[in-house]
Amino acid sequence: MINNGQFSDSEDYLYKKYLPDMAEKEKGMFYKSTRNSSIKVESAQAITQGISEDGGLFVPESIPSLTIDEVKEIAGMKYADRAFYVFKKFLTDFTDAEIHYCTDNAYSTKNFDTESIAEIAELFDGTYMLELWHGPTCAFKDMALQILPYFLTTSVKKINLDKKIVILVATSGDTGKAALEGFKDVPGTQILVFYPEDGVSPMQKRQMTTQLGDNVGVCALKGNFDDCQNGVKQIFTDKTIKDKMDNAGLMFSSANSINWGRLVPQIVYYISSYASLADDGQIAYGDKINVVVPTGNFGNILAAYYAKKMGLPIGKLICASNINKVLTDFINTGVYDRNREFYATCSPSMDILISSNLERLLYLLTGQDDSRIKDWFGQLAQNGRYEVSQEVKDILKDEFFGGFCDDNDTKKTIHDIYRKYSYTCDTHTAVAVKVYEDYKKATGDNTKTLIASTASPFKFSASVLEAMEGNKSDMDEYDMVEKLSQLSKLPVPKSLADLKNRERRFNSSIEKSDMADFVMGELGIS
Ligand SMILES: *Cc1c(COP(=O)(O)O)cnc(C)c1O
Repeated sequence: MINNGQFSDSEDYLYKKYLPDMAEKEKGMFYKSTRNSSIKVESAQAITQGISEDGGLFVPESIPSLTIDEVKEIAGMKYADRAFYVFKKFLTDFTDAEIHYCTDNAYSTKNFDTESIAEIAELFDGTYMLELWHGPTCAFKDMALQILPYFLTTSVKKINLDKKIVILVATSGDTGKAALEGFKDVPGTQILVFYPEDGVSPMQKRQMTTQLGDNVGVCALKGNFDDCQNGVKQIFTDKTIKDKMDNAGLMFSSANSINWGRLVPQIVYYISSYASLADDGQIAYGDKINVVVPTGNFGNILAAYYAKKMGLPIGKLICASNINKVLTDFINTGVYDRNREFYATCSPSMDILISSNLERLLYLLTGQDDSRIKDWFGQLAQNGRYEVSQEVKDILKDEFFGGFCDDNDTKKTIHDIYRKYSYTCDTHTAVAVKVYEDYKKATGDNTKTLIASTASPFKFSASVLEAMEGNKSDMDEYDMVEKLSQLSKLPVPKSLADLKNRERRFNSSIEKSDMADFVMGELGIS
């Protein structure tokens, strides 16, 4: 009767006449699992669930289009309305009022320190920095985690789940803080974050342990990040805990970047920044731009790829890695191999050997071949390695350029662009700048380019200062922040400055074996 949301004219008529709601619904966007295309759900379901039962990720069944005329239209709007415009294409089961509720709450100057939300700075002629760190935690994860709580609570209501959502997060730093700020005092939610006691930077620890809000909890673990993550996974799948949660009207959900609700907000800023550049006369409508993204889990760069597939004129997508260069190798050889040494770098948010969102890209590049995806990711789980087909290798090379940069070059780049352009960038962004320079040398491609700048330099003051000054400092955290402010002539972000004298609220530090008890205690279900 209905195939892929397509109607024959007569069917369309019948549905409209007898089942008007159904007709509208069936025409909407559905989300499929990358490992089983026959699983189809609407966005509210996909966002609530986070991940498909078969372990696959939810992806839109088709990519909505975006014309240049629409980009022109968007250029006249403020960021929240640009976001609304894009979300309407993807979240077709949401009403306009529901989307506006989400965008208006998330993207305002209550939460961001700049009217434009995503600021653009010209580094040098034709090269622009897309500063995605003007949110409350000074990292680009705010762009998605400011809105995810609204998506999630709206979705839960839409599918008639009368439950309070409990977000459990294992973090190595940035995600935990961004999730805490996002979910802080959002009605119908509670959030608990675990971080490795000795595995985060002093600023990151301060950010988390001083977190405000009545529905938040933070706990240090005597262990490393993997211990945090394993513990959280075990709690998620514990039957006894689940039953107790059910009885108490609670349910777990995830704020991790496998959730579609974290990916779709990232598409917006690529479209928005293109509109801003064109509106400002930096490019003409229709001109192609290249995009460079410092990459870890492949979420941010995948969002740029979606924007391109919608119709945004993007040329090359440049994927920048630190020395954990599993993605560089993958783009160049078509072999994904995580069996390699793991390095702790000065761009820690990119220290990742399993880039989960790559699964979504490969699903697209294989023409939604769920059985091949299942096979490859089964191999990854079993042997830590898979090799894609020649066809996929060809498209990969056509669409992407992969490069990497070690800590020395990262710091040298921070130093050089500070001297040359009086611009101060953080360690993650510097990786992107360096790989972009390498790309230009290798190809001679001088297309105008947008570089995603993913964190404020103040978040990584020690490394940035060392790069600028050329020697390691023994100053304390806030002396370094002050010094960095003098050198960069940038104000210290208010959200970081405010933490200096804020009281520490969370002092718990527990053993791995006590995580479940801790969670049940916090939730009052022990
Ligand atoms: C998370 C993060 C990245 C990596 O982004 P992905 O979407 O995981 O590729 C890069 N830079 C910073 C500062 C981050 O916090």
